[in-house]
Amino acid sequence: MDDMSQASNLGLSDAGLLKTGAYIDGKWVEAVSGETFTVDNPVNGDTLATLAYCGADETKRAVDAANAAQPAWAAKTPKERAKHLRDLFNVMMANQADLARILTLEQGKPLAESMGEIAYGANYIEWFAEEAKRIYGEVMTQPSPDKRVVVIRQPVGVAALITPWNFPNAMLTRKIAPALAAGCTVVCKPASETPLSALAIAELCDRAGIPPGVVNVVCGDTRAIGGELTSNPIVKKLSFTGSTQVGKILTEQCVGTLKRLSMELGGNAPFIIFEDGDLDLAVKGVMASKFRNAGQTCVCTNRILVHESVKDAFVEKLLAATNALKVGNGMDEGVDLGPLVSAKARKTVDEFVEDAVSKGAKVHEGPSTPNGDCYSRPLVLTDATRDMRVFSEEIFGPVAPVFTFKTDEEAIQLANDTEFGLASYFYSKDVARCWRIAEALEYGMVGINEGIISNEMAPFGGVKESGQGREGSHHGLDDYLEIKSLTFGGI
Ligand code: ADP
Repeated sequence: MDDMSQASNLGLSDAGLLKTGAYIDGKWVEAVSGETFTVDNPVNGDTLATLAYCGADETKRAVDAANAAQPAWAAKTPKERAKHLRDLFNVMMANQADLARILTLEQGKPLAESMGEIAYGANYIEWFAEEAKRIYGEVMTQPSPDKRVVVIRQPVGVAALITPWNFPNAMLTRKIAPALAAGCTVVCKPASETPLSALAIAELCDRAGIPPGVVNVVCGDTRAIGGELTSNPIVKKLSFTGSTQVGKILTEQCVGTLKRLSMELGGNAPFIIFEDGDLDLAVKGVMASKFRNAGQTCVCTNRILVHESVKDAFVEKLLAATNALKVGNGMDEGVDLGPLVSAKARKTVDEFVEDAVSKGAKVHEGPSTPNGDCYSRPLVLTDATRDMRVFSEEIFGPVAPVFTFKTDEEAIQLANDTEFGLASYFYSKDVARCWRIAEALEYGMVGINEGIISNEMAPFGGVKESGQGREGSHHGLDDYLEIKSLTFGGI
């Protein structure tokens, strides 16, 4: 089937946004091998589209195209690059409804969340369109009377961007936008579960007049594409969002060419409620942070730690809120949680629950789900303990385990007892405690009386095994820029 007839099945108002080839040097191409793979709807397993299954050859061509395009892209004035990004922001928002539809169909999240993700993803493009004009240098103090030292910042070069399936739009825009603003060109490899959103972004880059070769997208054989991106010496930087496990593999693969790395990896977010915390606010925060995207975000609450004196009151409110959730097809009105991305993902979540129950956790089942292999029932686990897998591993599903603590010290100790360090949250009205706890949490991000912490203005990223580098804010540009010092002598 050609792109147009595939698109008509998806109900897009602009059929041209469904792309099934690789986007290399401004052209849509098939795989050299002629092989294909399918993208399926997690609601029912229906095939949404059949795509070119690319490998190392196509990736190498994409890298060469990015390399050829990079000098001219970097030579544009910041204002010119900003204009391209601004145009991309505009076409993305003009096509928000279709992009959200593609996203829900391939990923499963409710349409309202997908609309939100497109706007959130576009915000990064708007932000870095503005930041492109503020890549400043420095004049340093002079080392001797006849010398002057100046610092300029230059693009790293060709960047490889590998993204996951949980935010198929925004995880890519928050890499593409700073890369392009800095003067880098990119080769993107989206997750095989959700490549249609990335291909639609490539189409919009084309419509926004971004020159051929500046943005390239290749989908297909993950290992072959990843192998080429990490070993090709032309690629100077890898920015990856995904699991810690794969992040470590890719880091090892980059050793041979010592690439610059940005790694946004897994999390194990604690959500602490102190005895003086506002319980209603905390439940609101936990619902947003735990159940958004059916629990499949790297900043999702993984462990609820509640002071023992307020546990019963908190759990009662949490159960009421959880029971009010509606699970269903993300395309239907009023749905809060769609299916998980795959049947495998659902099975993994089931195993977490079985493990917790076998070790004494009590299950409070939330709303029922429609039939379907990928649906996971939202639930709360009380009497959770440290020996359970839900304490130490990332759940990535709608399961909310509740642990208790007695003192601030114990809360901090529990919160930090993990190799991860991405997002954390806590609720208290005491200003002194807020400072103490915020400083003691070994995390890259802390929500204080707030469950939603990600936006283009705040630096996003982790410490420990949650990764390195920051996305968003003016710091987001640093990952794509080299510092060069110029020493002038004979003055
Ligand atoms: P998730 O748990 O979110 O699926 P993964 O780390 O498995 O996270 O995948 C994130 C991204 O990394 C996806 O685009 C996936 O295809 C890609 N990926 C997984 N394994 C490799 C690999 N060996 N080489 C390159 N990319 C990989």
